[in-house]
Amino acid sequence: MDSIRQNKVNSLMQQELANIFLIEGRNYLPGGLIVGIGIGAAGFTSSDRRTVRFAPNIDWIDEPLAEHISALVDLPVVVENDANAAAWGEFTFGAGEDTDDLLLVTVGTGVGGGIVHHGQLYRGGFGIAAEIGHMRIVPDGVACGCGQRGCFEQYASGSALVRNARERVTNGDPGTAALKALADGDLSKITGPALTDLAHDGDVLSIELLAELGHRIGEGLAILASILAEASRASSASSHSARGRSFSWILSC
Ligand SMILES: [Zn+2]
Repeated sequence: MDSIRQNKVNSLMQQELANIFLIEGRNYLPGGLIVGIGIGAAGFTSSDRRTVRFAPNIDWIDEPLAEHISALVDLPVVVENDANAAAWGEFTFGAGEDTDDLLLVTVGTGVGGGIVHHGQLYRGGFGIAAEIGHMRIVPDGVACGCGQRGCFEQYASGSALVRNARERVTNGDPGTAALKALADGDLSKITGPALTDLAHDGDVLSIELLAELGHRIGEGLAILASILAEASRASSASSHSARGRSFSWILSC
C-alpha cells in the first residue's frame, strides 16, 4: 500500500514539475508557443532518439525517456546524447559556426563527445558514435560505469579529479593539509569547485591535481585529433564555467 501511495505521489510530482517547466519555458519563447521538446541526455541514445540505451553514470538501461516525458507534456519529444546536442548547438550558434567539421569534448562528471562532419551530426551506425569517454586508455585500469576498465573518463573528468584528491587524503600523502582542512573529516566536501578554489588560492597539491587532469585530457585529445583532425587548424576553448562544474573544447578542422 505504501509503495502504491509513493508511486502516486511521484507521478503527481512529475506532472507538477512538467507543468512548471512548460509555464517557465513559454516565458522564453516568442508567442509563448512550445511545439516540441529536445532533451540532451547523458547516455547512449537510440538511433530513433526515443530511448536512452545505457547511461553509465545514472544507471539507466533502455529508459524510454521520450515516451515518459511526452506523456507528461503532450508534446513531441526528441532525445539526443547531451554532448551531441552541445556539439550541434556550438555548430549552429556558437564556437563552431565558421566550420563544417568539429569535435566537441565535454568534461564534467564524465567525458562526452560530439562530432559534426561535413555539416552533419555524426551518430554512427547505432546512434551512439563519439562516446569518447569510454575509449580505453589504460588496460586493466580504473573500473568504469560502462563495465570496462581504464576508460578515458576515469582519468580525465571532474569525477577523476575528485577521486584522486580524496585518495591523496585517505593515503595520508604529503601536502594534503589544505585538502584535509577542507574535508574536516568528511571527504564528500572535496568537490571540483572546492578544489578549483584551493588551486586559485595557491594550494600546491590542488594545482598539481588539476595539472594532472589537464595532462590526461590533453593526451586523449591528441589521440582524437590524430584520428579526426590531423590537419586541425584551430583549437578554441568554450568555457561554460571557470569553477570546475563542466567545460568543453571545440576542435575544428
Ligand atoms: Zn567506460
